[in-house]
Amino acid sequence: MLQDMLMFSLLNRLKPCYLCSEFNLENIHPLCITCWKQLEVNPRYITKQEVSILVAAPYQFPLDRMIQKFKYNQALHYTDIFKQICERVAIPETFQAIVPMPISKSRLHQRGYNQAYLIAQILSAQYNLPIWMPIKRNHEQSQKGLSRIERLIGIEAQFQLAPPNALRYRKVLIVDDVVTTGGSILALKQKLNTLGCHHVEAFCIASA
Ligand SMILES: [Zn+2]
Repeated sequence: MLQDMLMFSLLNRLKPCYLCSEFNLENIHPLCITCWKQLEVNPRYITKQEVSILVAAPYQFPLDRMIQKFKYNQALHYTDIFKQICERVAIPETFQAIVPMPISKSRLHQRGYNQAYLIAQILSAQYNLPIWMPIKRNHEQSQKGLSRIERLIGIEAQFQLAPPNALRYRKVLIVDDVVTTGGSILALKQKLNTLGCHHVEAFCIASA
């Protein structure tokens, strides 16, 4: 009887791994130990488009799959794992606010959330920093087939100042899920510079 009860409570606590669905007695994360060990969290600074970007991990399995599901399949339970990844990254105490990479209204309606905002919320709680969104983003059209310069000009045009408010921060950290070319981070940084932000760096969960 006691054994049955113990077994019942144990089974209740066991959760399948988010990625491979395996049950694992040692599950301490939302992932099983095997998948968690494959996750290579290795925080480092990279420079793209002359912006210093702190990245937590390379964009490879299993993180690439998690980010895709998080972004396109409403898999918001991955927020737990991103939280654990963020806990392993030391963000310098230089910043006054966090600026999540904005997404356009139409994309927000389609997706229902801004994935960068959710990551910014994790860091905001962790470092007790406000989230600041002084820039909005217009339509995000495909950049396929454009030259590098055309792409950069196209991306730059997507960012607009949001209606002005009294808040002003000078040292800010841009937050996004993945950095590839760094074009959107550069465009956002340039807009933030026009608002008087003289120190702008970025943090991304992964770098492709
Ligand atoms: Zn697994």
